[in-house]
Amino acid sequence: MAEETIFSKIIRKEIPADIIYKDDLVTAFRDINPQAPTHILIIPNKVIPTVRDVTADDEAAMGRLFTVAAQIAREEGVSDDGYRLIVNCGDHGGQEVYHIHMHLVGGRRLGRMLPQT
Ligand code: 5GP
Repeated sequence: MAEETIFSKIIRKEIPADIIYKDDLVTAFRDINPQAPTHILIIPNKVIPTVRDVTADDEAAMGRLFTVAAQIAREEGVSDDGYRLIVNCGDHGGQEVYHIHMHLVGGRRLGRMLPQT
């Protein structure tokens, strides 16, 4: 059984978060430290630590992340101008919370995907 993170507490509403969407498979809430005017995290309700841990059983939830992201982007008014979806994986990927999450970031021109090194 994968270890829970703070995101499980958010799903169960044990700690406060600005939850904007929830269904049987995923939950979406505003990032506590937004990097752009719109910065929302969309997560599976099931604890899956990283993309490395995804199995075929998770395909419905993983697909739902995208359909919900597209729906929220429209509702947030960032869809037409475009936005970015980011899923960090592991240490080199810069992942801080080990419960898979898709960042939906938009509301401004985001520039290059990766900083120049
Ligand atoms: P990662 O670096 O793992 O891809 O992103 C983790 C994200 O979770 C960060 O953008 C961070 O601001 C956000 N985050 C961490 N703890 C909390 C929290 O308690 N509440 C909310 N809403 N966001 C959080």
